[in-house]
Amino acid sequence: MLDEILKFNQAFVMNRSFEPYVTSKLPTRKLAILTCMDTRLTELLPAALGVKNGDIKLIKNAGAMISSPFGSVMRSLIVAIYAQEVEEILVIGHHDCGMRCFDNQAILQKMKNHGITEEKIEFLRYCGIDFETWLNGFEDVFESVRSNVDLILHHPLIPADVKVFGLVMDPHTGQLEVVNQ
Ligand SMILES: [Zn+2]
Repeated sequence: MLDEILKFNQAFVMNRSFEPYVTSKLPTRKLAILTCMDTRLTELLPAALGVKNGDIKLIKNAGAMISSPFGSVMRSLIVAIYAQEVEEILVIGHHDCGMRCFDNQAILQKMKNHGITEEKIEFLRYCGIDFETWLNGFEDVFESVRSNVDLILHHPLIPADVKVFGLVMDPHTGQLEVVNQ
């Protein structure tokens, strides 16, 4: 796979195919979006929102979730606000998300099937890693988006003038439903 990508990349640069994508590092719409890494949203989400390259800071992970108030998602949002002039944040979950009712026990079993030993898992538990919480998903996407929005809004380092909204997208049509306003 990498060989294929590197070959394509060489031709991409040589043919100056990057020219339509030239933009600055500051988001022109002053907007940051936290959403899910779902493959169906890769092109659908920006297209359905009418945002183009250079408009937004896009943060993606499994489930559009903030698993820790001082983890990498919050850090990215803080950087987006204080270093990149972001004034508004959208948290966009979606229907049919893989993190809904996520089976963390099945994932643990698959780790073992891939050679991660029981001893290693027990050692990590002993070190304080709570796999059930760390690999947790959510039951209801609206509830998940709402709680992530609340976490951002009430975060001690988020200034009061930053607007935070939650939305849920249909991964087939791109239709948005507003969770909070
Ligand atoms: Zn998802």
